Amino acid sequence: MKELQTFPRVALGLFPTPTQKLENVSRRFHANVYLKRDDLTGLGLGGNKVRKLEFLLADAKARRAEVVFTTGGAQSNHAMLTAAAANRLGMKPILILKQRGVTARRGNQLLEHLMGTDVRFMDTDSYDDIYAEMDRVGKALGVPYYKIPCGGSNALGSLGYVACAEEIAGQGMRFDHLVCAEGSGGTMAGLALGAKLFLPGTRVHGMMVDSDPFEEITLRLMREAAALMEAELDISAADFSLRDLCGPGYAIASPEGSEAVRLLAETEGLFLDPVYTGKAFAGLIQMLTDGTVQPGENVLFLHSGGAGGLFAVEMEEEE
Ligand SMILES: *Cc1c(COP(=O)(O)O)cnc(C)c1O
Repeated sequence: MKELQTFPRVALGLFPTPTQKLENVSRRFHANVYLKRDDLTGLGLGGNKVRKLEFLLADAKARRAEVVFTTGGAQSNHAMLTAAAANRLGMKPILILKQRGVTARRGNQLLEHLMGTDVRFMDTDSYDDIYAEMDRVGKALGVPYYKIPCGGSNALGSLGYVACAEEIAGQGMRFDHLVCAEGSGGTMAGLALGAKLFLPGTRVHGMMVDSDPFEEITLRLMREAAALMEAELDISAADFSLRDLCGPGYAIASPEGSEAVRLLAETEGLFLDPVYTGKAFAGLIQMLTDGTVQPGENVLFLHSGGAGGLFAVEMEEEE
């Protein structure tokens, strides 16, 4: 197997990120609930995409790219962080975003405006249309360019979360469960593969916040990432669990997600987001109340960031 350290990587974040116990949540649910603070990765407003971009943009650099393209929804945290990282590394980011969601100058759109980012919208529901447009624009520019898929979720990007699992193992605590949001799949696939390699005894749970075929997506990314690492592993759907927390739709707040955002705000002084981490934490609350997590077990919840969404996506009020 190839060590992760042998893959080219650019330093973008502040690692390792801290692990912190949620004392009030733990007391309420009779388990030991910890946060892996990947909302503090140290670029932009933090978030999980920084770990993926360390691998992806090293590859872009190696290929002498001058322009970096990526895509996502209008409020994509991934697109915003790609712009921040590319700027820092002296490559020009061009974001070609789906015209769905909040396109007004709020949340991540505001941050992209502050960074002077070239943001374009395409009225399509197909990422293939957008990747074709990247090639058209890139060829017209006549410079070497690099395309990062939606969410940075390919095999190389997923290595960022294999590395995160190795980092968690190095922090010394043992966890019975590891919980994350699943949007484009790279984070979950990386953690599930990383847990197989570095966290024996830890069960990985993905909380689906979109309606894609995630079992298939996760398996494919796990196998492709394992192939990159030349790791001979028997990978199957038994390696992880999935739960559907999408609610009314991707990037639309759900009542239980908003309740989880409020719970952490009120009891711990910490902020989740309505699109990913709030819904994922609502899934963790289900696990804590339906017996999936046994009393006294240790649970690690990946806080994957998403602060921009709090300032763009409407959350339903309770009354
Ligand atoms: C992108 C994102 C996720 C989901 O990660 P994927 O690798 O796309 O599945 C979770 N939380 C936040 C805040 C994100 O921006």
